[in-house]
Amino acid sequence: MSKLMALENITWQPSPNFDERGADTPIDMLVLHYTGMRTAKEALDRLTDAEAKVSAHYFVDEDGGITSLVPEEQRAWHAGVSEWRGESNINARSIGIEVVNPGHEFGYRPFPERQMAAVKALSVDIVKRHQIPAWNVVGHSDVAPDRKEDPGELFDWRGLSDAGVGLWFQASAAIPHSDIDISTGAQGAEVFELQQALREIGYGATPTGLFDPAFENIIRAFQRHWRAVRVDGIADPETQGIVYAVLAEVRRLT
Ligand SMILES: [Zn+2]
Repeated sequence: MSKLMALENITWQPSPNFDERGADTPIDMLVLHYTGMRTAKEALDRLTDAEAKVSAHYFVDEDGGITSLVPEEQRAWHAGVSEWRGESNINARSIGIEVVNPGHEFGYRPFPERQMAAVKALSVDIVKRHQIPAWNVVGHSDVAPDRKEDPGELFDWRGLSDAGVGLWFQASAAIPHSDIDISTGAQGAEVFELQQALREIGYGATPTGLFDPAFENIIRAFQRHWRAVRVDGIADPETQGIVYAVLAEVRRLT
């Protein structure tokens, strides 16, 4: 029933940019993107251009219109080099949704309510049909923090989670973890612990005890998703507290 509700106004515009998923690969992830191009048309042209070699399963316009580009059974090409929970074959195991927004490069702006409602309805439907676990609903920046910023800090992850898609944390669990900022150049046990926590959540963090530029990008990606009011790559006490609150939620559910 939910399938019909979400799919009733879907337009089909096939993209040639897909191939086969691996035979034994489950669909157990949902990856959200923004298009990051000046106009919706420009983005749709690119996602359906054989030369561009990029695609997604769905495209959600700012008016809430949904276009299907690649059948869910096929592997769309949206994630590129990426990693989550130790897996790097993200395209093979995920559904990808492109949400129209010019992005940080061309004038990042709020996602209109109708658009977000369509993203929610579509995501609810996908997650239900494929039984995608909450901890595997991610942004492109979560799986490729060195390269990507999408869908960005204006995306309503919390609202999506309220609709049953993806993971949010208990506010009561998000207590400031320490009274110091941890940032690039820092070294020691608290950095190591934070890296381990983010790795367990799913990020491609390597626990080294050194807060290097790659880890700063992971902190920034985490903030875009769970602490969007300030995205600066600094693990301040609030950010640290939220990391451990998200980790607690992952542990509770897994
Ligand atoms: Zn993307």
